[in-house]
Amino acid sequence: MSSCQHTTILERSGLRATMQRRLVLDALHQMQTPASPYDIEHHLTKRGSTVHPVTIYRITKQFENLGILHRLGSGRLSLCKHPETEGAHGYLRCRDCGSVTEFQNEHLQRLATDIAEEHRYHSPAPLIEITGLCPSCDPS
Ligand SMILES: [Zn+2]
Ligand SMILES: [Zn+2]
Repeated sequence: MSSCQHTTILERSGLRATMQRRLVLDALHQMQTPASPYDIEHHLTKRGSTVHPVTIYRITKQFENLGILHRLGSGRLSLCKHPETEGAHGYLRCRDCGSVTEFQNEHLQRLATDIAEEHRYHSPAPLIEITGLCPSCDPS
């Protein structure tokens, strides 16, 4: 199960899997959609757990740095579907229904490395969003 994979990466990173970190991770798994920090707080409150928004922000930032969570252009957060795989990660977003699909692509990583080198940027971690129509919304 993917929850194990994210937890394993968290534990291996040297960050302790504290109760609060586990709560935020569980919430992200249960929500299964790009979510705002506010959505996470709301979800936790409904289940009787209280984690301060500032703490949620700090924890999601740590998850992002570990590569187990992505922050989309909208500011919403989504758990990485392919943690620890080579290549760049990106999202396809349907401009009709708003559904989001994560992809992973090695060419995109090479392209990002070239562009970053050209501008003397280090450690490029591209995260792109491609909008289009998903299979269920495509009328053809
Ligand atoms: Zn990813
Ligand atoms: Zn759609």
